[in-house]
Amino acid sequence: MPYHFTSPPFLVAIILNLGLLMKNVLVLFVILLPQIIFAAPVLSVNQVAPGIYVHWGVQEFSDTKNHGAIANIGFIVGQRCVAVVDTGGNPEQGMALKNAIDNTTSKPICYVINTHVHPDHIYGNSAFKNTGAKFVGHEKLARAMSVRGDYYIQKAPELLGITLTDEDIIPPEIAVSGELDLDLGERILKLTAHPAAHTDNDLSVYDPQTDTLWLSDLLFIEHLPSVDGSLKGWLTELDKLESKSYKIVIPGHGSLVNDWPKSMMPEKAYLSALLAEVRAAIKKGVFLEDAVATIGVSFKGKWKLFDKFHRKNVTKAYAELEWED
Ligand SMILES: [Zn+2]
Repeated sequence: MPYHFTSPPFLVAIILNLGLLMKNVLVLFVILLPQIIFAAPVLSVNQVAPGIYVHWGVQEFSDTKNHGAIANIGFIVGQRCVAVVDTGGNPEQGMALKNAIDNTTSKPICYVINTHVHPDHIYGNSAFKNTGAKFVGHEKLARAMSVRGDYYIQKAPELLGITLTDEDIIPPEIAVSGELDLDLGERILKLTAHPAAHTDNDLSVYDPQTDTLWLSDLLFIEHLPSVDGSLKGWLTELDKLESKSYKIVIPGHGSLVNDWPKSMMPEKAYLSALLAEVRAAIKKGVFLEDAVATIGVSFKGKWKLFDKFHRKNVTKAYAELEWED
């Protein structure tokens, strides 16, 4: 008997049903396609003061799992338009932030402020490229982006598990030196370009209307501060800021501050100790290799990510202080 006559009827039924199933799945897919395309992720944000929205980042080291989406980022809404404050750690997070803005207000985005060059604050820039918004940063930000850009793009797949191109590194069109006011319509943001501190291109944003200071990475809460600019400069900036009062301060990493300057004191204590201990070690002629094992170890256990950043901070402080008088 020819083989094909032996096909049992249930097999034919399964094949027919499978065909029907595939057809149904296809129909469903076509119906849902617009939703699949447009159901883009929306970043979660908290309104911390009227018109000020923050997405609170996770206290983690940037890696291929979190794709660098770790910083506090957000936006401020005026009567006329919106200012973004940092765009996130990857282009998708930038897009999710843009979706959060679109869900919150119909007002256009007029400014995208980058508080400094670090990847977790600027890698979402491309999401705002075609919004008509003007990019704003410290006068030294463009230089920092061009110096680090190629390295950042090259390392992004390995370190963050993402792919970046030149298009993702967008330098500021408005360069801030000293201070600058940005008018969002009945809401003037006061931007300050700081001397070298966390980096050499730190920008803070003050909203007089709500007495809120968006300090970004000039302030770390719980997450060990990382020095990439000037240790001495950072302490000088903290001294200036400490003498002022603010109702709300938004750090670059860690939770909302409403007891300024109290919550800043651990950062000041760590950076001050780093300065004093590195200075003393250099004076005694201790080599950097030996110093990293002892300097600042009393702070281990008090800060998250201590092991990720502390050695680098000591090294950076050595380079800065080695040649001082
Ligand atoms: Zn930073």
